[in-house]
Amino acid sequence: MRYAIDGSVRATRHSRYDVVVVGAGIAGLYTALNLDPSMKCCVFAKETIDISNSWLAQGGIAVVTAPDDDPELHFKDTIVAGAGLCDEDAVHVLVDEGPMNIRKLIEMHVPFDLTENGELDRTREGGHHKNRILHAGGDATGRETVKTLAFIASQRDNIIFRDNTVFVDVLTDEAGVSGLVVKDDDGQYEVVSTRRLVLATGGIGQVFETSTNPDIATGDGLAAAIRAGAELRGMEFIQFHPTGLWSADRESRSFLISESVRGEGGLLKNSEGVRFMVGKHELAELAPRDIVARGIYNELRRSGESHVFIDITSKPEEELRRRFPTIFNECLRRGINIAHDLIPVCPVQHYMMGGVKTDLHALTKVPGLYACGETASTGVHGANRLASNSMLECLVFGRRAAEHINSVHPFDTPSDAALPPLPVRPALDADLKSLRHELQRIMSKDCFVIRTKSGLEEALREVTSILETLKAGFDPSKAYDETLSLAIISVNIVKSALARRESIGAHYRED
Ligand SMILES: Cc1cc2nc3c(=O)[nH]c(=O)nc-3n(C[C@H](O)[C@H](O)[C@H](O)COP(=O)(O)OP(=O)(O)OC[C@H]3O[C@@H](n4cnc5c(N)ncnc54)[C@H](O)[C@@H]3O)c2cc1C
Repeated sequence: MRYAIDGSVRATRHSRYDVVVVGAGIAGLYTALNLDPSMKCCVFAKETIDISNSWLAQGGIAVVTAPDDDPELHFKDTIVAGAGLCDEDAVHVLVDEGPMNIRKLIEMHVPFDLTENGELDRTREGGHHKNRILHAGGDATGRETVKTLAFIASQRDNIIFRDNTVFVDVLTDEAGVSGLVVKDDDGQYEVVSTRRLVLATGGIGQVFETSTNPDIATGDGLAAAIRAGAELRGMEFIQFHPTGLWSADRESRSFLISESVRGEGGLLKNSEGVRFMVGKHELAELAPRDIVARGIYNELRRSGESHVFIDITSKPEEELRRRFPTIFNECLRRGINIAHDLIPVCPVQHYMMGGVKTDLHALTKVPGLYACGETASTGVHGANRLASNSMLECLVFGRRAAEHINSVHPFDTPSDAALPPLPVRPALDADLKSLRHELQRIMSKDCFVIRTKSGLEEALREVTSILETLKAGFDPSKAYDETLSLAIISVNIVKSALARRESIGAHYRED
């Protein structure tokens, strides 16, 4: 299926930009800010700026800034977490160019937290052998960074920001990208002409029943790139965060209890008060995320319970309030004072290591089509992401995408995109909400922390059938676009998980 739209769609508007960025998280905004100001750029967001994975990021950004640290050590930690499947050239780019991009953020006045001596305050997270995680607003690093980048972007004459607009399809011609199709809140379609399209649409969390990602994280950029012929990599590698805040009610987004709570001394305990990660890994609670997630998953299978606990009651309330204001207040809102009570947690989907395969300039196989941030697979994460490397990846490869675009401007062939002639599909005869929940149920049952061949085969049959239902009809709603994206991505995740028979990194095959 090449397009989500069908032949009944008419564009009521046309526009043209030198560069279009889809996504206003850290990857999209930072890419736009690094473009040559002579280029007219439009940044689209599906909803408002505060709805993204970037906005929610708590822990921080992993980067070498301390005198006793070295990019080579950061490289080693990243390679170990990636279980040998990282692209070493991409990791070198990440760790070597990281400090320069952080200096740029500091110049832009991202308010990183400082020690009493006025130095950058650095903490440690799982898999890191040095304290190198910078944070802002205590545990609101993503929000503080997005706010700063968005403010600066709003002052640039060449950047136009359009929110509440859904990107639907990539348009191509013989020269590569020719434009894209977007749709506004009223369902009006628009054809946007451009020769340079950067997909920075974030994660795919809504593929699963429980995820730390917001409702909009349906992987639309990834699905559209697949339809446009881009290559994928590492789709089987999904990071399940070990410590989503457990809730008895179904929530569209799980609240995250950041790894830095364990970094600051939080201990994982079962309902009998026993530390079950000790002896499972030399770093115990601070072992790489996949090991902790499986440790909890197995502990829950053993006990038959729905959650375990983090115990951070050894720390004074004052300190917890200051260091983890977001977590402290959210838990308190739910009746848990983390200075006195244990925090109930369970594994939840959190991050996508794989994605649209790119080169070191964030360019995909489709000429003119770039991908960066969580949508992309630059190769830095391999089979598992080292904690807090993702925001760094957004910055480093977002800037690289922009520099590459700057280097080839002005573009040879002007673009004049139009809607392709397409057949009209029948109106979709299905309840989209039920299909979305069904997809999430299947993926959470058979493609979660621990996988088996028989479970994956069953999942493939079921998700393929849902995808066929969606392809057979058309519905001009946002719910249709999102459910189609989820189905396309689910099929690709399950196929990759079946193809990789060995357990490695975040992909664990029990058989
Ligand atoms: C709770 C949480 C905590 C995290 N903590 C950390 C951390 O401490 N450190 C770290 O490094 N990483 C962390 N991560 C991961 C990190 O935040 C993300 O990987 C990263 O911010 C992704 O940025 P992005 O710009 O690629 O995508 P996002 O920030 O998710 O932005 C995606 C953008 O794309 C837009 N979009 C999506 N689909 C469409 C569409 N169809 N049409 C138009 N626009 C669209 C959205 O509106 C949004 O603006 C965390 C993630 C979560 C969820």
